[in-house]
Amino acid sequence: MSRDVLLPGATLGVMGGGQLGRMFVHAAQSLGYGAAVLDPDASSPAGQVAQHQVRAGYLDAAGLAELAARCDAITTEFENVPAEALRRLAVLRPVAPAADAVAICQDRAAEKAQFVRCGVPCAPHAVIDSAGQLTTVPASLLPGILKTARMGYDGKGQRRVADAQALAAAWHELGGVPCVLEQMLPLALELSVIVARGADGTVVTLPVQQNLHREGILAVTEVPAPQADAALQAQARAAAGDVAAAMGYVGVLCVEFFVLADGRLVANEMAPRPHNSGHYSIDACDLSQFELQVRALAGLPLPQPRLHSPAVMLNLLGDLWFADGDETPRTPPWDRLLALPGVHLHLYGKAEARRGRKMGHLTITAADAAQARSVALQAAAVLGIAPF
Ligand code: ATP
Ligand code: MG
Repeated sequence: MSRDVLLPGATLGVMGGGQLGRMFVHAAQSLGYGAAVLDPDASSPAGQVAQHQVRAGYLDAAGLAELAARCDAITTEFENVPAEALRRLAVLRPVAPAADAVAICQDRAAEKAQFVRCGVPCAPHAVIDSAGQLTTVPASLLPGILKTARMGYDGKGQRRVADAQALAAAWHELGGVPCVLEQMLPLALELSVIVARGADGTVVTLPVQQNLHREGILAVTEVPAPQADAALQAQARAAAGDVAAAMGYVGVLCVEFFVLADGRLVANEMAPRPHNSGHYSIDACDLSQFELQVRALAGLPLPQPRLHSPAVMLNLLGDLWFADGDETPRTPPWDRLLALPGVHLHLYGKAEARRGRKMGHLTITAADAAQARSVALQAAAVLGIAPF
């Protein structure tokens, strides 16, 4: 389909109704676009705020046709939307990112091959497609982490394996599906970069994010990254831009990196959409990752975004709704939290709190990084989040 500019007034569609879709819809509407969401759930976070909601499965032919009829261009918020659905939509409407790029990001083996093609270092690894391959794994990859090639997120579908025996057991436990075994790397820190690329080849990046994970789930993001020097940050931004350009990517892409104990930068994985670690950009940058997604989809200009405030982002998991040992959810003390300066609360409209479920996030902005961190620690204490 042609890539004419879609000006505000047009309607933008999104595959998936989660929180990323909700924040995309907010950004689209704030620029004057209409928004339509396709999701099987009748009360999805994005469906609640969009003008149109198509309640259908991602491969439902009638649902896809209705979404295309309602919109002028379509994006995705959910990494595991079948690439086939995007291929079908692309016959009818401009779709960004393209199905082929999304398919690469959906498969850890393809993703790693893409990093290698771009000359971006990634963890030493082996692809395990069959039981026979378990015995041919180089010993140098152990101890390692076995990850399902597809459908993993928030640390799900992963097992740490110490030796060949544990590897075989873990592979069977994960269902005998195609997996990638990665060498366990000595991590000094974790970074991520949000890159946006337009159909005309313009590439911009948000400032580098430093991330802290707990139990495989992102817990804290700090920007500017306190422990990454300027050269490392420039390297990460350049690598993210190279990966996007090499895929001919159009849209917003997040590339996650490890920094090893010896200072080397290694790409971990990528997501073909805005990312949890980029949420701070709503409140701390003059262009958020969601506005970048809207602009890239609509074919609007992509000026270089600027961080106007140092920021700390805290994820709000469903655990906060449950006092120790209590099975009845309670509302966290938002009023006490909102008494702190520079606190931006984002709740996703999920009716039911569950442990480990992403219910919202909090961004703290301040005049300097020390102040942002200090208020973030106070916010964490008010909510019962462990200090960082
Ligand atoms: P998400 O989708 O939430 O980013 P995920 O389930 O796709 O997560 P990964 O990003 O692959 O999983 O891994 C989750 C975390 O596990 C990483 O952020 C890192 O802390 C740790 N980890 C992953 N791979 C390695 C490795 N090879 N060596 C050391 N630690 C690792
Ligand atoms: Mg990850």
